[in-house]
Amino acid sequence: MHDTLNRFLFDNTNVRGRHVDLDATWKAALENTDYPAPVRDVLGELMAASVLLIGTLKFRGTLKVEARGDGPLSLVVVQASSERTVRGLARWHGPVPADGDLQERMGENGYLVLTLEPADEGQTYQGIVGLEGGSVASALEEYFVRSEQLPTRIWLAADDSHAGGLLLQRMPDQENQDPDAWDRTVHLASTLTNRELLGLPANDLLYRLFHEEEVRVFDPEYVNFRCSCSREKVAGMLRGLGRQEVQETLDQEGEVRVSCDFCGKAYVFDAVDAEQLFARMSPADGSDTTH
Ligand SMILES: [Zn+2]
Repeated sequence: MHDTLNRFLFDNTNVRGRHVDLDATWKAALENTDYPAPVRDVLGELMAASVLLIGTLKFRGTLKVEARGDGPLSLVVVQASSERTVRGLARWHGPVPADGDLQERMGENGYLVLTLEPADEGQTYQGIVGLEGGSVASALEEYFVRSEQLPTRIWLAADDSHAGGLLLQRMPDQENQDPDAWDRTVHLASTLTNRELLGLPANDLLYRLFHEEEVRVFDPEYVNFRCSCSREKVAGMLRGLGRQEVQETLDQEGEVRVSCDFCGKAYVFDAVDAEQLFARMSPADGSDTTH
């Protein structure tokens, strides 16, 4: 089973978990850009992590996770939605160290920004954490500690064909709970190898790790690569650039071509399209405003 998000819990304990395996979704994210392996792996880990995290939330909307730094790998952005869609991209310049940790790739001052944008009304939430832990998983674990959320452990891996992750979370204690369950399950999960994370279906992996525990695995949810770009959004961006800049590109190129960095889709505006872009902004007919 591919491109799945699995929920599971350990009966009679306060420990729950999520497992994600991205296959076609991950390949779609890699389709338009030839990422070097050390860049690709960080992007894959962040993509798997974002699906795991939004999978733990009772929330309708989008989770954006950005890793930023002044190192050779300068930006990794992933957006995952409560509809189980995800997209992501990375930017880098020069060689990115293959055996360095996350801080060596992204720079000493690198950090993660997590943004939750509700689909309906409601407050956008943002949190920031440094990359001191040296990996995407440890940065996110640190984020959970600092923001005083539920204790959470995360394991992540990516290669050229899969991005996978496992998350364990300790829910608030209730009476008669098994007090050792958290330490025991974390200890068992810590034996997980990248090969298992990237090669085993959820049920096999959970059995291999936790066959001495009573694991209850729920029906999988399916994850898809989906990009939220549109001609309308590109048009808005071009209006923001201003008529003069768009006209200059038209004069030079004969058309304005904008490609989406997430999915590679190209949006082309010719002279007539451009005229319409700005015609709509005229005070006579539009409620559109520009700044
Ligand atoms: Zn797109």
